[in-house]
Amino acid sequence: MKSVPSLFASSVFNDAAMRERLPKDVYRALRKTMSQATHLELDVANVVASAMKDWAVERGVTHYTHWFQPMTGITAEKHDSFISPTADGRVIMEFSGKELVRGEPDASSFPSGGLRATFEARGYTVWDTTSYAFIKDGTLCIPTAFCSYSGESLDKKTPLLRSMEAIDRQARRILACFGNTAVRRVVPEVGAEQEYFLIDKAVYLKRPDLICAGRTLFGAPPPKGQELEDHYFGTLKPRVSAYMKELDEELWKLGICAKTKHNEVAPAQHELAPIFATTNIATDHNQLTMELMKSIANKHGMACLLHEKPFAGVNGSGKHNNWSISTDAGVNLLEPGETPYANAQFLLFLVAVIKAVDEHQDLLRVSVASAGNDHRLGANEAPPAIVSMFLGEELTQILEAIESGKGYCNKRKRPMEIGVSVLPHFPKDTTDRNRTSPLAFTGNKFEFRMLGSMFSVAGPNIVLNTIVAESLRQFADALEKSKDFTRDLAALVKKTFSAHKRIIFNGNNYADEWVAKAKARGLSNLKTTVDALPAFISKESVKLFTKHHVFSATELHSRYEILMENYCKTLHIEALTMLDLVKGGIIPACIAYQNEIATLLTHKKALGGHPLYATALEDDLLQKISGLSASLLAKLDTLEKVLAGAKKASGVLAHARFYRDKVFAAMAELRLDVDKLETLVAKKHWPLPSYVDMLYSVV
Ligand code: ADP
Ligand code: MG
Repeated sequence: MKSVPSLFASSVFNDAAMRERLPKDVYRALRKTMSQATHLELDVANVVASAMKDWAVERGVTHYTHWFQPMTGITAEKHDSFISPTADGRVIMEFSGKELVRGEPDASSFPSGGLRATFEARGYTVWDTTSYAFIKDGTLCIPTAFCSYSGESLDKKTPLLRSMEAIDRQARRILACFGNTAVRRVVPEVGAEQEYFLIDKAVYLKRPDLICAGRTLFGAPPPKGQELEDHYFGTLKPRVSAYMKELDEELWKLGICAKTKHNEVAPAQHELAPIFATTNIATDHNQLTMELMKSIANKHGMACLLHEKPFAGVNGSGKHNNWSISTDAGVNLLEPGETPYANAQFLLFLVAVIKAVDEHQDLLRVSVASAGNDHRLGANEAPPAIVSMFLGEELTQILEAIESGKGYCNKRKRPMEIGVSVLPHFPKDTTDRNRTSPLAFTGNKFEFRMLGSMFSVAGPNIVLNTIVAESLRQFADALEKSKDFTRDLAALVKKTFSAHKRIIFNGNNYADEWVAKAKARGLSNLKTTVDALPAFISKESVKLFTKHHVFSATELHSRYEILMENYCKTLHIEALTMLDLVKGGIIPACIAYQNEIATLLTHKKALGGHPLYATALEDDLLQKISGLSASLLAKLDTLEKVLAGAKKASGVLAHARFYRDKVFAAMAELRLDVDKLETLVAKKHWPLPSYVDMLYSVV
């Protein structure tokens, strides 16, 4: 292997490549477009495209693609070759500025929530100049935003970029109030920790439920799951280690700072964490990471499961979204500083986040809602569906002291005044780490832990950026008019904390008492996706997102439809897969085993009452299996009928409720019988590998 520094970003047309290959004036013009999000002139684009193409062709590339992130949650690409015929019958490799900057994929088959009728299904992809082009699989990939003919966003990137602009605008207003007008840009940054499962490909291919639904729809609990917690941080098995090594290398080539890797709590579960980056880049990188996790697993004879809950009764997989905001000079605005002014500024940004989370809990809940994540949130492993924040003891005490006016007694026993005193230095608390909190302050960033492993981080960050932008907007409106800044600032911090402190909970979020306590505090508890999604199109949500130019009302409604439809389709596919498995594999297995037992019984009975030919075992087994089989048949019938009935529910909300209340319940009932039968029917007849076969398949 080449040294890591020479390998790193070798497949990326990054700043170093640009500087080396572009004429100085073109390089400068492009940098300006990137840093100030200004328009890219066509003559500049032409030179950039040509240099980019030469760089790619030298690396064996023949095609290019506009790489985008439609509402499917994964990425899309359509490949075009660089070839261009010449008059004398040869071809040359060509790539124009127009082709670089804009694409026109036929977009009729991407989800649009009714935004675009098929007959006018033109979509545009536009280069996101702030995310570098890269080579994947012999193709030059241009990261792009995707929108409709009339300019509505059809992807996850466009609103994300808009939300980044919103928080930049408002945060700079606040900084200006503190006299800091030199900051040119404030950017939100994200480090996305990614959990996943690895199982052997041969077992995977024998599980149609994993193939079609991404999770096991049946499976009796294994005798050994995660009880001993012996997998967490355990030694990596050689196959897993080889996989992680190749994954790291491939990620590094793409300029992705893969940093940490380890085994997670559940058997076969692992985690990868990169070093944080600007949000849109971190989003692109996380999409690429998930894609590579799957393709490299395949090469190593394994399957990578990214579903939130592949195995019932075993921890699911999440994604931790570490979020902070920093200036273009690299100053983290969530870092408690060492001077009084920095402290006051920190406290203001901190209460801005507290206010945002309290006022818009429901939108944060929406941003992590999916059929898959419904299995996690609220179970005893992930944060519950109730959104709350953890600040840690010390920071909470400081805010409480400010609120009560009694003064915070630090080591010098001096009361603290905002804007005058120096805050104590907060250690990054690794000891008193609250792992149950949905949104934990961890020293200089917030860790949002409710995301499912399959999620694009775009959605949650669109919400985080926008709601915090709104708090900052209100603060800036007040402070810009202030005649006595220190006094008004202190009053604002105090008032905001007082009004929103109910969202702070430093205790155990998994405890049953919390549910009642949260209710008493008036916090929402939206248990399922169907409960959560309507908040997305509420009057307040439309007002918020339109005010900050993140979503138009039409875009919000279309996304709501897409998310609800996606929920229904997911459950529909799961139900159909269950029906298929039961009819095609489980019933035949029950019949075959019953036949075997019945044949033996007949033989034994023919030999007459000798104790050697006792039939108690066979009688008992046959009775149990035939009893359960009859019950199974009835439940199969119910699920089929219920599924047929789903068509009748009118309207997207009624439809989704029907799936949640009726279809899901019928599926759960059916599973009960199948899982019991699995423990009775001989393994040689059972059509599916067991939980043990899967969870311990990689040796
Ligand atoms: P852990 O949560 O496992 O203790 P860390 O706190 O070191 O690990 O970091 C977890 C993730 O948070 C990493 O992806 C890291 O790059 C990211 N991170 C660290 N600092 C910041 C920051 N200021 N803003 C956003 N993400 C950050
Ligand atoms: Mg973490």
